[in-house]
Amino acid sequence: MDLFDLKGKAALVTGGNGGIGLGMAEGLARAGAKVAIGGRDSARNAAAAKKLGAIAVAADITDEKACRGMVDEAARKLGRLDILINNAGINIRKRPEEYKLEEWHRVLESNLTSAFVACQAAHPHFLKAKGGKIVNIGSMMSIFGASFVAPYGASKGGIVQLTRALACAWAKDNVQVNAVLPGWIDTALTRRAREEVSGLHERVLARTPAGRWGVPEDLAGMAVFLCSPASDFVTGTAIPVDGGYAVQG
Ligand code: NDP
Repeated sequence: MDLFDLKGKAALVTGGNGGIGLGMAEGLARAGAKVAIGGRDSARNAAAAKKLGAIAVAADITDEKACRGMVDEAARKLGRLDILINNAGINIRKRPEEYKLEEWHRVLESNLTSAFVACQAAHPHFLKAKGGKIVNIGSMMSIFGASFVAPYGASKGGIVQLTRALACAWAKDNVQVNAVLPGWIDTALTRRAREEVSGLHERVLARTPAGRWGVPEDLAGMAVFLCSPASDFVTGTAIPVDGGYAVQG
């Protein structure tokens, strides 16, 4: 269907070498987009790229120069850039009083500052392409609190407000900017969370109306929608993909 067709489009997915990023990158590739996979680990990047027929652009996105370079490299190697998915992210789980300031900065730089830098770097490429799509990955922690997520929650709340600000600023350039808020998805990140937070697995199952953890492929459809002509009048939103977690009273 033309509405969801991404043929001729070029996409960069940060953190696309595993987890949710890989699930979304697969969706974009299946819809016809040429994809660049971003991440620090070159071996994992190469494996994901091979699986999807994509290219790899290794960078640590907390390094401003490397992050801008990654966006430009993706555009150069793919011949254009139409889509940026800011998915890379980390969490450090502690009680608020226990964080070192360095840890606060590391989470904010990984999850929020890097997304802003990548958006800035992508903007000239979108102007050249006469439009663009940005998808920023938030979290249930964009809307809820928890005792062990002070910097993560701040970064993911910030992602939603960044999304709204960019959506307003760049609508005139035909750039749509949206956020996706995944529920609890089974990835390396949350496998660690389950080890560190006792009872988390059971709490997630009890609270999620769909009665299961999500899998990375659950994010593919929303990624395709938000990167395709089907969403050309959708901008500034933050859409949960969570099996109903956010609406369970
Ligand atoms: P993973 O840990 O599986 O993947 C994280 C990805 O980010 C990896 O590809 C990693 O690659 C990359 N990454 C991390 N730091 C950097 C960095 N400094 N530079 C470049 N790449 C980096 O996590 P998920 O797939 O679970 O998470 C993906 C996103 O979804 C995150 O933003 C997370 O906050 C969000 N999210 C996840 C949820 C879940 O339940 N899993 C729920 C809500 C939101 P590499 O290590 O090679 O750099």
